[in-house]
Amino acid sequence: MISKEHIINRFISYVTIDTESDPNSKTTPSTEKQWNLAKKLAEELKSIGMEDVSIDEHAYIMATLPSNVEHDVPTIGFIAHFDTSPDFTGANVKPQIHENYLGGDILLNKEEHIVLSPDYFEDLRQYTGQTLITTDGTTLLGADDKAGICEIVSAMEYLINHPDIQHGKIKVGFTPDEEIGRGAHKFDVEKFAADWAYTMDGSQIGELEYENFNAASAVIKIKGKIVHPGYAKGKMINSMYIATEFINSLPRMETPEHTDGYQGFFHLHDMRGDVEQTELQYIIRDHDKGHFEARKEVMKKLTAELNSQYGREVITTEIKDQYYNMKEKIEPVMHIVDIAEEAMEAIGITPIIKAIRGGTDGSQLSYMGLPCPNIFAGGHNFHGRYEYVPVESMIKATEVICKIAELTAKKDFI
Ligand SMILES: [Zn+2]
Repeated sequence: MISKEHIINRFISYVTIDTESDPNSKTTPSTEKQWNLAKKLAEELKSIGMEDVSIDEHAYIMATLPSNVEHDVPTIGFIAHFDTSPDFTGANVKPQIHENYLGGDILLNKEEHIVLSPDYFEDLRQYTGQTLITTDGTTLLGADDKAGICEIVSAMEYLINHPDIQHGKIKVGFTPDEEIGRGAHKFDVEKFAADWAYTMDGSQIGELEYENFNAASAVIKIKGKIVHPGYAKGKMINSMYIATEFINSLPRMETPEHTDGYQGFFHLHDMRGDVEQTELQYIIRDHDKGHFEARKEVMKKLTAELNSQYGREVITTEIKDQYYNMKEKIEPVMHIVDIAEEAMEAIGITPIIKAIRGGTDGSQLSYMGLPCPNIFAGGHNFHGRYEYVPVESMIKATEVICKIAELTAKKDFI
């Protein structure tokens, strides 16, 4: 058994180091302080007995656990990110441990009356009787994704200390800057040299994900013409009115607040303008490749229509693809999802397989040649003061990693 206290201590040693990333920085890692945890992790991997521990100039960490069997086994990897979201402060995290959670409200902060309540966060109820780690209400926790790091390190340590568990070669990869969308950018897939990998970066216990959005951004620029309002008849073109025409021509119900599951959307996330010029910023999301392409077409057609209606180029639309659904890359190697599912079932977890309404580092890595589904790390309410993680979920995730390694060594892949 993996000791609860050991997991708690390890987790706390990570979350108390501030590693907030910064989208406005051009460097990798985006913040100098990420090195503080990166260096510690590299040292820790060495101290538990991992081999080939490396940390490159961008703070990407890799390490190897050699195979302990004679026969050929595919090399598998486990990946997590050590930065935390810039959405909420990650400085001076003071983790609070609540043993034997009774299912009621948790007072996070007395002075500021901050309460974590199952009336609002219903998921809490399923953890009655467990040990929860929360914030003190003033910071995020950083279980996203330091829980994932803690689980991977703990699983490697467990396998090293239990050589009776047979496994093939296992690679570990820790990255900076996932929260600002750059975690996979400088990941050296060739150096990692795994046949496939899993990101340990999901939320509640049981989550297993291999589908995510196809994603694009669109910037719509509308040019108007300013004339003195008293003498504007037949001359003024008000770019803001054209902008509202554009907005209202897109399906009103296909927006984030009206969609879920496999439904895609157009999301207008920024709009600023005056008579002379208006700019709209959209993101386009859809799991289905065909629907995704169709959505981009809708915007292009609408642009052309409005331009012809005004008899000149009043609108320009620039669409850029951001990332794609990893499903396309995972389906040909579905056994990698099956193994994860089997591992969960073997230790009494019901797998929750669902499509991510977002992207993951795993989707980028999958398109870089490393198929990479995502597995739960156990935390909830990421990126804010209500973030929490049940210790029991972290232990289960650690066991899932060990079990995947064990099952991979048992299977016949020829
Ligand atoms: Zn994450």
